[in-house]
Amino acid sequence: MAQSLVAAGNNYGMLSERTRMRMVERLRQQGIADERVLAAMFEVPRHLFIDQALATRAYDDVSLPIGQGQTISQPLTVARMTEKLLEGRAMPGKILEIGTGCGYQTAVLLKTGAQVFSIERLAGILDKARQNLRNAKLVHARLVHGDGHLGLPDIAPFDGIIITAAARQVPTPLLEQLAEGGRLILPVGDQQEQHLWLYEKTTEGIRKTKLEAAKFVPLLPGKQ
Ligand code: SAH
Repeated sequence: MAQSLVAAGNNYGMLSERTRMRMVERLRQQGIADERVLAAMFEVPRHLFIDQALATRAYDDVSLPIGQGQTISQPLTVARMTEKLLEGRAMPGKILEIGTGCGYQTAVLLKTGAQVFSIERLAGILDKARQNLRNAKLVHARLVHGDGHLGLPDIAPFDGIIITAAARQVPTPLLEQLAEGGRLILPVGDQQEQHLWLYEKTTEGIRKTKLEAAKFVPLLPGKQ
């Protein structure tokens, strides 16, 4: 891999590979332990999901603007949510993402081996995500333009559901579309205060766990 990049004279490729390796080391120090997640984050070229003007900051642990007032989550948040989503399952299975944004989280999920469905309410943002994923040579996610609140009842149940925009409360249809043994992770709160919450569907019912504080754009109704 490194050799072919040298042959192609593509220095940025190697540079970004080294930078990604450092990002993964940082994630490890920050407590991310699932090797599937670390490998996926090493493999996805995060700079391809960010406007060129901001690409030099692609591997910093910050969230960045992606247009239309939306943001790409910081690497630690993506890693943490993916790890919690897959925890306890040998196979990632069928995953539903709400809030495609630039498609970076989608790409990380694909690289873990998950079958990914992702819904975005803004058509312009979804087009960009499709282009970004194509540039990263990841074309096997099903991207849907729609209101994520409704989920995808025809394709349910899902082994995991990840919502990457802050809800005031968990949308009921999404909980219903979760398989038994499945996990749903989302930020809950307003623009002042949010926390990640994990919902697990067990044979005895739903188990809820409050996790760390978070900062996401709001989950909005309808599509545009
Ligand atoms: N996962 C993204 C983060 C996206 S930011 C990434 O890796 O970059 C949150 C996204 O959720 C925005 O693009 C926003 O338009 C979208 N969103 C907000 N409400 C939504 C809804 N009801 N259905 C689908 N997408 C929604």
